[in-house]
Amino acid sequence: MSASSVILELNNADVRRGGVRVLDVPRLCLRQGEILCLVGPNGSGKTTLLLTLACLLERAAGELSFRGRTVADRAAVLAYRRSTATVFQEPLLFDSTVYANVAAGLKLRGTPRQQLRMRVEENLKRFSIAHLAHRAARKLSGGEAQRASLARALATSPDILFLDEPFSALDPPTREALLDDLEHVIRDTGIAVVMSSHDQAEALRLADTMAVMRQGLVVQAGPPEHIMNFPADEFVASFVGMGTVLKGRVIDAGSNMLRVAVADTMIECVGNIQTGRQVVLCIRPENVTLAAPGSHDGDSARNHFTGTITRIIPMGHFLKVQLDCGFFLATHITHHSREALGLVEGGTVVASFKATAVHLIPHA
Ligand code: ADP
Repeated sequence: MSASSVILELNNADVRRGGVRVLDVPRLCLRQGEILCLVGPNGSGKTTLLLTLACLLERAAGELSFRGRTVADRAAVLAYRRSTATVFQEPLLFDSTVYANVAAGLKLRGTPRQQLRMRVEENLKRFSIAHLAHRAARKLSGGEAQRASLARALATSPDILFLDEPFSALDPPTREALLDDLEHVIRDTGIAVVMSSHDQAEALRLADTMAVMRQGLVVQAGPPEHIMNFPADEFVASFVGMGTVLKGRVIDAGSNMLRVAVADTMIECVGNIQTGRQVVLCIRPENVTLAAPGSHDGDSARNHFTGTITRIIPMGHFLKVQLDCGFFLATHITHHSREALGLVEGGTVVASFKATAVHLIPHA
């Protein structure tokens, strides 16, 4: 990350709520045009961190810098807030028309009339609500109201947009359509975004950077794909849907190839960890393939285990299959594969995965 592209920086943040420390973030940066998604279970501190970054929540300690300048005194805080916009889970609209709501921030800033009208119309269009301009805000559906909130937020052309669980109150099709439009607007404007979400699919879809939170700490931050495949600890592994998380011990360490004992079995992995070390093995469900017994010969995977199917769980478009191979193993398959392989609970199957599909975390 080049220092010059950093737009917002939070250092040594300590935030207390109800007298209790609920946020402890040594350092967090946001770059120009970056979409940063804060994810984590309920109560992990996502909203607290988002509001702290938006300077809407007081810190007990710590420093916030915007474009290289400390946001310290009241004047700096007010100037900073005018460069940002925040959208919450519940749309906070005035009891007026959609047009008036979208125009509100611009009016406050004394935007000349013609420019104001242009900006309002542009943002109504961006969020496909031009036809609702003269509708009373209180008569909007949840999805329309959130579109109006987003149009209002973007009308002032903020440098940073804060979104606190903006889609969690919406039904899936409404959310999907809004996500599409928002993604388009974000990429189009190049605005920097901080968004909180407990839905990792949402985060994966939008985020350039994902920050996983637990108990007020950012436990891992980085590109979503990296976190999905290389979680830093067991908590992150479970949160990003790793599927299989096992405890084992390195028995044999060759040149970058390891044999790891898990229960009574050996799993071959790629890595550089000393013999004798305790490790956590993580295997993503999409990296485990299933075959009928005796039919897997010839594939390049190093690990093949015969197992009993303990559960088949419908997940909509796919099925989650849980196996007992002497250790727990989970995979995802399509409905078509289930039929083709004739998989049933209690049946026997061969599970295969490559040595490179195992992510190892040395145990503390
Ligand atoms: P998240 O957004 O991840 O659900 P929050 O930031 O809302 O988490 O909460 C973080 C912690 O702060 C939780 O332990 C929560 O109970 C506590 N908390 C949040 N709001 C308040 C409040 N107004 N007063 C006291 N404690 C609060």
